[in-house]
Amino acid sequence: MRKFKTESKKLLDLMINSIYTNREIFLRELVSNASDAIDKLHFKSLTDSSLHVDQDALAIRLAYDKDARTLTVSDNGIGMTPDEVEKNLGTIAHSGSEEFKEANAEAQGDAVDIIGRFGVGFYSAFMVAKQVTVVTRSIDAAETVRWTSDGIEGYEITTIAPGEEGFRAENGTDVILELKDNTDEASYDEFLSEWGLTDLVKRYSNYVRYPIQMMVTKSRPKPKPEDAGDDYTPEYESYEELETLNSMTPIWKKKASEVSQDEYNEFYHATFHDYTDPARTFSLHAEGALEYDALLFVPGKAPFDLYSRDYEKGLELYSSNVLIMEKCADLLPDYYNFVRGVVDSADVHLNISRETLQQTRQLQAMAKRIEKKITSELEHMRDDDREAYETFFENFGRGLKYGIYQSYGMKKDELAGLLLFWSAREQKMVTLEEYAAQMPEGQKAVYFACGDDRDRLFKMPVVTAVLAKGYDVLLCTQDVDEFCFQAMRDFAYTPAAEAAEGDAEATEPETKRLELKNVASGDLDLASEDEKKAAEDAAKANEGLFSAMKDALGDGVVTKVTVSSRLTTATDAPACVTAEGPVSLEMEKILNAGPMPEDVKSQRVLELNAQHPVFSKLQAANEENDQDKLKLYTELLYDQALLMEGVAVADPVAFAQNICKLMA
Ligand code: ADP
Repeated sequence: MRKFKTESKKLLDLMINSIYTNREIFLRELVSNASDAIDKLHFKSLTDSSLHVDQDALAIRLAYDKDARTLTVSDNGIGMTPDEVEKNLGTIAHSGSEEFKEANAEAQGDAVDIIGRFGVGFYSAFMVAKQVTVVTRSIDAAETVRWTSDGIEGYEITTIAPGEEGFRAENGTDVILELKDNTDEASYDEFLSEWGLTDLVKRYSNYVRYPIQMMVTKSRPKPKPEDAGDDYTPEYESYEELETLNSMTPIWKKKASEVSQDEYNEFYHATFHDYTDPARTFSLHAEGALEYDALLFVPGKAPFDLYSRDYEKGLELYSSNVLIMEKCADLLPDYYNFVRGVVDSADVHLNISRETLQQTRQLQAMAKRIEKKITSELEHMRDDDREAYETFFENFGRGLKYGIYQSYGMKKDELAGLLLFWSAREQKMVTLEEYAAQMPEGQKAVYFACGDDRDRLFKMPVVTAVLAKGYDVLLCTQDVDEFCFQAMRDFAYTPAAEAAEGDAEATEPETKRLELKNVASGDLDLASEDEKKAAEDAAKANEGLFSAMKDALGDGVVTKVTVSSRLTTATDAPACVTAEGPVSLEMEKILNAGPMPEDVKSQRVLELNAQHPVFSKLQAANEENDQDKLKLYTELLYDQALLMEGVAVADPVAFAQNICKLMA
């Protein structure tokens, strides 16, 4: 017996004794090796004219024996000479294993997914087998080599000469695993079953270039006997047939024009276990220093756990048709976490790891390009198929807004164009650009209002006042909206070039940054000079009234009572509550309703409509020095203004009593 080297032993020990959840990937590794061996033979045949290889016969075979508990992976590839067997299978010193070892040392205790992320190759067989035998014959050798090992101490090598028992008539390799016995914790029976192996091949090796074949049991009706009567019921017999388990050609390597949407949908359903058709399918082919193909999907509906902590983003990463990572998170930014798909690059190695810089750079380059592609694809969808886009936005729009918020607005220029909001005037979803395009002369900002309910927002005095000016208002009902707007602050708008008549030198329109303004925030700067002057005069003239009202509301309830410059006609509401500073009423509500209430306070301003009949009643009460009446009216006005804005009143009982007082 020849002994394994010390470091190899350590690794083997680790692999055998780890309870990896995905030990099933050993099959992927063996199939990859088999496929590589066939590749090598194929390439050799291209340069060596004496070599006659029947291309159609190149295949990988799986065979299992339930009684003997063996699973065999065979190929008719290049095989190994005795020296190669010694070199390749006697030491575990190739790069994949080395990195695996390092990562494992770092990630002690958190070993769950490590093997899945690394190509640990041939030795992964020892995760499921107590004994592995390799029988191989190189295309360049006359003898067959037999290597066996229990994966613990060492291995034995024997050579078999032509004519001796066990001689392999043709080049190629059989890897025979004697599976471990089942224990209470682990069963290996799935690797001895037709469905188990079929499932694993489909899952991990579906796109291996060569057929992966296995004998499967099928059933067929027996021929009807000549003398069968009318009451003959067909009898069935089972038979064995060699079946190809993998689909081979990767759908992402085919030209988009050669694949029907139905085929893409089928692939999507099977791969991502989502039975709703994707809303958008698109592909990307990159050439140059880093070559890869990507096939990407925007799902038709949001997965139920999209906004939960458990949701894992990521794309499937393949290296030359072999799946190496089921969810490569680094390939997608968080705000595109809903995108599903496959990336395949021959330049990414099976032993991909976060630790190697080169790989990280490759992934970053791919991620950047993929992100761009997704953005442009969503833009197309927005422009070509608005209905589908609106459904998409209902599903995933929230994530895009979070993207802007979480990046502190850094991503706003990329993402702003993808956002949709409800236009109060148009009564439909519009983009910020569409909003800006219909702004009348003189409108300086984009106006929005935030609250729970669109209809209620539409009737809110602060909204109707802006609408009355001829300016549209975006009605926003998601809790993230205001945070997103606050992170954005403004948005870049370039008006469409106008075809200037008779003017050959039409000037390029300039890009403006339009401020985003909450209609319920401090000063909207909407009033004309005259209106401003009138409000100022009224404020001065009523200073006494306002300070009495502020006192009547109690300490710190509002920072100010003043004349409104937005409620300016007798038909407008008598009062509204706005907020000065960065925290709006709606934000205060959201922040304080969170799982960890933050006790955030907005700086509230009670604005009064000086043209409303109620205003003169207030003045009268103040002049008559009727403190009770002034307090009653002030509290009522304040509370009803809050109610109109969808904010709970501090003391509903007092509010009800105040109304009764008024009626009595
Ligand atoms: P890796 O495939 O990452 O190089 P493995 O441990 O899986 O590492 O395999 C080690 C080497 O053994 C391979 O590089 C290859 O040269 C050889 N080998 C493994 N399986 C086969 C096979 N089925 N046919 C021919 N050579 C093989």
